[in-house]
Amino acid sequence: MTKNKIVLPGEQVSTSEELLPGEGTFEEDGIIRAARVGTYYVDEKHRRAVVKPLTSIPVELKKGDIVLATVNTVRSNMVIAEVVHVMGKNRPISGDTNGTLRVSEISNAYVKDPSTEYAPGDIIRAKITQVKPSVQLATKDRDLGVIESICTKCRRPLYKKDNTLKCENCGNKERRKTAMDYGDYDLKKF
Ligand SMILES: [Zn+2]
Repeated sequence: MTKNKIVLPGEQVSTSEELLPGEGTFEEDGIIRAARVGTYYVDEKHRRAVVKPLTSIPVELKKGDIVLATVNTVRSNMVIAEVVHVMGKNRPISGDTNGTLRVSEISNAYVKDPSTEYAPGDIIRAKITQVKPSVQLATKDRDLGVIESICTKCRRPLYKKDNTLKCENCGNKERRKTAMDYGDYDLKKF
């Protein structure tokens, strides 16, 4: 892949045949992936894949911020997601990044069970509706929701076709509350 590219957490940057996993990356089944939002580059001297934070000065979350978050847990009435990036702020985040998305804040349509809309590993674009005492998220708007997700069966990327997401590897079809630019977002616009 191109070097000096802005990457998302979980995105494949290299393979363990090519490089060693360095700072800001991790290895899983021979694939080296980004562990954070940042700029991908290769430390040629040590043959390591590295994902550098975008800048070093941290930013605090504020109500109204549009953020990217990684879904960690899906419960019967809420989703727990870690906020990994504030749009428009190419900086690491300080303070509490553990966000809660209540079932009523997922979509404008009625959602009974969050697991019909989101799955662990999804990257969602969300709005911060509260910071203290806890970080609360909402994904009701059309430009909010999943921007990238992986197949729950084989962990390969899901592609959007009409209104469903399809895995081109195993043929599995899944649904999500997708953002309108699912699979076609531009991180440089952040
Ligand atoms: Zn699959």
